[in-house]
Order: sequence, then structure tokens, then C-alpha cells
Amino acid sequence: MILAFMERDELRPLAEFITDGQVPDRTVLDYLANMNARSEAGSRYHQEADMTNAKAVKHIAECYTAPFTIEDMRRFAGEAWGQLGINVVERWCYFNATYFDGALRPVPLVLTQTQPFGKRLAFCSYNPSTTGRTITLNVPKAHKSLLADNGTLLYEMVHQFLFERGEHAGHDGEPWRREIMRLTKQINGREIWAGRSMTVRRDKRVVRINAPHPETKEPSLTQAAIAHWPHDGFGIKPRALGEGNT
Ligand SMILES: [Zn+2]
Repeated sequence: MILAFMERDELRPLAEFITDGQVPDRTVLDYLANMNARSEAGSRYHQEADMTNAKAVKHIAECYTAPFTIEDMRRFAGEAWGQLGINVVERWCYFNATYFDGALRPVPLVLTQTQPFGKRLAFCSYNPSTTGRTITLNVPKAHKSLLADNGTLLYEMVHQFLFERGEHAGHDGEPWRREIMRLTKQINGREIWAGRSMTVRRDKRVVRINAPHPETKEPSLTQAAIAHWPHDGFGIKPRALGEGNT
């Protein structure tokens, strides 16, 4: 229910709804605390939230659960980045329908010419706990090798999918490995094996590998390849950002 892009001033009238001494829903308290974490007035709002009643809680919840829609995505991206922005939204919609059964919530897509995540393209931009609920894609004017493409978008959507399902969303987890195996098969029919990272003893040294397939003993992709999916060695050739097909 968090809309991190909402203006903080909009919290003020909401605080006025909070009037008597009943304890509100935990999720609303957590939400208000989260929203106000960076605000000097945060603790005060949180205290006021402690004095809310069921009606006020319901009102607050309704205010903040107004969904961010596909149309909002289009308006935002179109206003900010023109046709490229619209095209990326269309790709997001297509991928959502094709690869995630339409399960993903509409999300603000941000195109940037800086590299907010270092040299890592859009590496892990979908991270509501630190950067808010957006997908940020790096589209620099120079440095063609760092250009985000449709593969980068899909990669971020895997993160989004796992976050929204409440699963561990990192590249080191089973859910990420499960999804890249599933999606590679769907995209180009290839069966890949991504095993968990583990340590083994080799030549009296302890080394870290990814576990081979438990039955076929097929070696795993390396952890680096797993983290870079769908780029590097999967036989997937993503089109330029926003262009048709994958
Ligand atoms: Zn990532």
C-alpha cells in the first residue's frame, strides 16, 4: 500500500482524521511510520496514528491504496520521456502478460542517463525498501555497452515479481534461480540449470561453486551468470529498450 511518490504535505489532512484512542491496524501504523521516516514530524504523526479509530484508519487506507494504474504509467512515462517512455510501458505490459500472467502491479518506470547504481545498468533498481517502488533503467547517451535493453527491463520485472510475492528477491536465492530457469525455457526453449551457491573442497582448497543438478549432475551456471540474466550466455538477444518482441 505504499505510494512513496506521494507528496508529504498530503499527510497533514489525514492526520486530522485521527481523533480517539483506538489502536489502528498494524499495517497502517507501519505505513505511516515508513512514510514519515524521513520527516521531522514523523514521530508526531506516528503518535497521532496511535490515537486513531477504525473509521479514520479505513479512510487513511483508502487514500493510500488508490492504485497506480497502467494509465498512470503511460501518463508519467509519456510526459517525462515521450515516445520512448510510452514504448517501455508497452513492453512492461507485454512482458507482464506474457511472462507473469499479468500479476505485476503497475509501477513507475524511470529512465535515467546517469548511473544511479554504479556501472550496473538497472541492477536491482526495484527495491522498495531503499529506493522506492520504481523500476529505473539506465539509458545513457554515450557508453552503448551500458545501454539498458528489454532484457534489463525483464530482469527488473523478475525482481518486482519476487518482491510482490513476498519471496526472497536477491540473485542468491532459490526464487531468483527458479524464475530465470522458467523464463529462459519460455523465451527460447533452453533448459538451463542454476544451482545454489555452496562451498566445496577441491585440491585441499575450499572454493565456492553453484551446485550441479541433483539428478542429472549437469553443472550449474556460475553465480555471476545467474546474477546477469538474461544477458551473457543464455542465447537470449534482447531488443533495444522499448522495441517489439523480446
Ligand atoms: Zn538484481
